[in-house]
Order: sequence, then structure tokens, then C-alpha cells
Amino acid sequence: MITLGIDIGSTTSKAVILEDGNKILASAIIQAGTGTSGPSRVLETVLSEAKLTFEGLNYSVATGYGRNNFKEANEQLSELSCHAKGVTYFYKDAKTVIDIGGQDAKVLKLQNGTLVNFVMNDKCAAGTGRFLDVMARILEVDVNALKDLAKESTGAVKISSTCTVFAESEVISHLSNGVATCDIVKGTCQSVASRVASLAKRVGVMSPVIMSGGVAQNTGVLKALEEALGVEIQTCKEAQLIGALGAAMYAYEKVK
Ligand code: ADP
Repeated sequence: MITLGIDIGSTTSKAVILEDGNKILASAIIQAGTGTSGPSRVLETVLSEAKLTFEGLNYSVATGYGRNNFKEANEQLSELSCHAKGVTYFYKDAKTVIDIGGQDAKVLKLQNGTLVNFVMNDKCAAGTGRFLDVMARILEVDVNALKDLAKESTGAVKISSTCTVFAESEVISHLSNGVATCDIVKGTCQSVASRVASLAKRVGVMSPVIMSGGVAQNTGVLKALEEALGVEIQTCKEAQLIGALGAAMYAYEKVK
């Protein structure tokens, strides 16, 4: 049984093809989200990697911010359900999932692999990947480089503005005062972490805590979150694919 999960986010499109609900045949991430060519490109990429055609799929589920625009899928499901499901592929006993994407952040509470509660910030760019993307652009560094820069820092500068636009001006002023880029990066990571930590405290954090979404690759944010919450946080290299993986797992349950 071959199933597809496609996660159409605000900034990236992700897809996973599963065989019998457990074997990953193909996966892809395209740096373009809803309303762009991202969804069709990511679909083309996974189908070609798995040497399949769309007709060869038994069932497909779309998730993410742009899921309702992907009419080719058999079904659309919320990213909350798909992240909760996808995380159990790697961490069967996960109790808290912190998902930071390009435009929102969510904290999910699971019990025996089932979603029981969640909190979400989709109103403000601070505390999301967008905040990091904006700051990386001003600092003229790639988002991939943020984790290494944060590691180099010997003293983070505090970013005190609660608004991304004002924080942008604050970063520019730190730069013109000669503050090292790595210290600004660490401060930026701490700023995102402190906002997500406040969100997480509202739902209650129980270990094991898993981080999913694109920002999970930024260990600067992950470490700052561990410090802010006082817990160990686990993640894996497939963190950004967890929503798409969960969608493919749901698709399998549907046709099984
Ligand atoms: P969405 O589903 O909302 O499109 P994702 O979960 O794909 O979001 O996450 C996108 C965010 O992940 C980007 O805004 C970016 O900040 C971050 N990101 C993506 N790749 C990396 C990377 N290699 N290192 C650090 N951050 C990354």
C-alpha cells in the first residue's frame, strides 16, 4: 500500500511517500510554500524519487497552511493532527511536541500517541521562523548558519522588542554599535525561545519533549528553549518532514 503525505507550509513544501505505513520510500523539501510552484515541485520530486506516478498512489493526505489549495489529495487534515501522528514514527512515547515553522509555533500535548491539548501562535511573527529569517537577512547570513553562529557567541545581546519590526531596528542598532554577529544571533535565538517557552508553559510541558518543524534544525533555538523550560528536548534530522510523514501515516490508516 503506497501513501503520500504533503505538507504545504507558509514557507516550504514537504512530501513523504510511505510503503505500508512504515517504510519511507521518498521524501523532499522545497523552499517555496503555499501559492507558489512549491507544492507541484515537491510532488514531482518525491514521485520521481520513488519511481511512481500520482495514479500509482493508493491514498494521499494534504496538510499545512495551504492544504485546501491542494485539490489533488484525497483528503485534507490539520497540521496539528499530522504533527502529532508523525512524531510517533520516531518517538512512540512523546508527551510534548514543540513545532516552530515559518509563520507559526504550536505546542502539542500527547497522551499515548493521541493529541489531547495544544496552544498556538499564528498571530505574531516573533516566536516563529519568520523572526529568524528577517534577522538573518539583516545580518547577511543564511538561516542554516544561525546554529553555528549561536555556538560561537560568548555573550548574547538581549533583544527586548516584542515586535519583529522594532526588533529589526534593534538589531540594526546593535550592528552599528559594533556588536558581534554571533552575539546578536544568540540573542535572536533566545528571543524566539522565550516566546515559545511562554506558549509551552500554558499547555504544560511533560517529557519526553520533541521539537519538529524547520526551526528544529537551529540548535541555537533548541538549546535556548531547553534552558528556558529546564527540560531536555530531542529532535531528529527529519524534523521538518514530520507533518508530511504524519499525513502519509493517516493516509495509510485510511486505506488499510
Ligand atoms: P512552514 O511549514 O510554515 O513552511 P517549516 O516547518 O518548513 O515552516 O519551517 C520553515 C522555517 O524553518 C524557516 O522560516 C526557517 O527559519 C527554518 N529553517 C529551515 N531550514 C533551516 C535550517 N537548515 N537551519 C535553520 N533553520 C531552518
